[in-house]
Amino acid sequence: MKDIRDIHFTELESFLQENGEKRFRAKQIWTWLWKRGAGSFDEMTDLSVALRTKLQENFTFHRAEIAGEVQSKDKTTKFLLQFHDGKMVEGVLIPSKDRVTACLSTQIGCPLHCAFCATGTMGFIRNLHYSEVVDEYILLNNRAQEIYNQHITNIVFMGMGEPLLNFDNMMTAIDILTGKDYFGLSPARITLSTAGIIKGIKALADRGFRCGLAISLHSADPTVRGQIMPVTEGNPLHELQSALVYYHQKTGERITIEYLLLSKVNDSEKAAEQLAKFCRPFPVKINIIEYNSTPDSLFHKSDPTRRQRFIDILERCNMVVNIRQSKGQDIAAACGQLVKNQLRIDN
Ligand code: SF4
Repeated sequence: MKDIRDIHFTELESFLQENGEKRFRAKQIWTWLWKRGAGSFDEMTDLSVALRTKLQENFTFHRAEIAGEVQSKDKTTKFLLQFHDGKMVEGVLIPSKDRVTACLSTQIGCPLHCAFCATGTMGFIRNLHYSEVVDEYILLNNRAQEIYNQHITNIVFMGMGEPLLNFDNMMTAIDILTGKDYFGLSPARITLSTAGIIKGIKALADRGFRCGLAISLHSADPTVRGQIMPVTEGNPLHELQSALVYYHQKTGERITIEYLLLSKVNDSEKAAEQLAKFCRPFPVKINIIEYNSTPDSLFHKSDPTRRQRFIDILERCNMVVNIRQSKGQDIAAACGQLVKNQLRIDN
């Protein structure tokens, strides 16, 4: 049986017609699925019981579930989300003064093996279907209202996985999240983060991508980046730089550069100069992220003096620099710490 959320609108219309139902019912069902975020046919209360039974007999409805959650001292909440096949990802809600940001996953595990990332150690299990990505949003948005009394205001695709290696599902999910006839979220409040998949960045540019784009760069030195991010081998830095120039030319958008400062790996004065040079051809905002160690970390946090010197050099080169405070460190929900077996349900 097909999943109801894996069929086209026209297919649903034909099904209804073949079953003696009015075509406008398709719009009603679609609204339940992609605007109201229904979790079952039973929730579609403006459909007759007979139609709901017919739908149940002909389609499955694979809805994700929250399998666990844990809250940090700083109120960041990490969730374990389980899909119909039992596979799981993590999602995080990060509250701040006037917003609640959801950090969502795009794949189960990740094939890229960045040396500093706990998720990379899981290996790759499978891509998320677009309906599963949307489920992450629906489930976490419901919980955001219960926990913080506020809707999700921003989404960052910075959880498990590399979104541009799950391109088609991600584009459909984003279309559903932002479409006027769907959830209607503002693209300006969604950021997709990539480790630098050149082909995907060019495809986003050609598509006129309207959400924010962040590059997890972490080094502008080809040798160092190759050591900490094996993705560099097939996506060399000079080609990545050209792809970002192309992206900016096509979209007119500023690009966010994410840079995790690792002690004595990528935090030298030379590394700062290389970063400034890499970013010169297009407008950027550079987010400097403090490293959070996991129990078996190979890396360490950069010390405050080295960090300040690094930032001073970037600012002297007229770069816009923000220091990103990682949240949820005590529950392993911070950057680079998302890995399924670290969710401890202890409250
Ligand atoms: S940092 Fe991102 S791209 Fe790299 S291994 Fe972790 S999840 Fe994958």
